[in-house]
Amino acid sequence: MDYSILVNKDNPLPRAHIPNSLVDAESKYKENIKLDRLAKESFDKLKNEALRYGYNIDIVSGYRDYDYQEKIYNKLLEEKGFTYAITRIASPGKSEHQTGLALDFCIYKDEKCYIEHDVEDKIETKWIHQNCHRYGFILRYPLDKEDITKYSYEPWHLRYVGNIASYIYNNNLTLEEYKERESR
Ligand SMILES: [Zn+2]
Repeated sequence: MDYSILVNKDNPLPRAHIPNSLVDAESKYKENIKLDRLAKESFDKLKNEALRYGYNIDIVSGYRDYDYQEKIYNKLLEEKGFTYAITRIASPGKSEHQTGLALDFCIYKDEKCYIEHDVEDKIETKWIHQNCHRYGFILRYPLDKEDITKYSYEPWHLRYVGNIASYIYNNNLTLEEYKERESR
């Protein structure tokens, strides 16, 4: 498994790409979530550390296959139109959820579950953004980097990259910028 694999609009995956490292990730949000084994183990550790601060986090979405991505992309396209959909959801093959290394998290708080934009102003989210690199994760679609990632800010979407995460975090890079530096 290449933990630094870059998947985006210019670097799509084929329909047949299915990671062989998928395991079940327990989540009280939803059943049948799968993730790469190391990404899952690392998220469990992050989740356990968060709990020590009273922060209750879990996984909303992990691995998505090509066909599923196609289905949700077409649905959003139909509902909101192309201009809206294009910066908010990956078309099939262009979602890094297909790698098994990406996940969307939720926050349980005050007997509610916060997902997507509702996690934005939560203290838990700030903590995750500052600490997830110690467990190999990066915030994949940061604010003010939309011109590089081609995605609007997604405070809920983490990407497992392994031991390069701290370097990426400390240098305020996106994965695109990291790969660009590495190739020089
Ligand atoms: Zn996501």
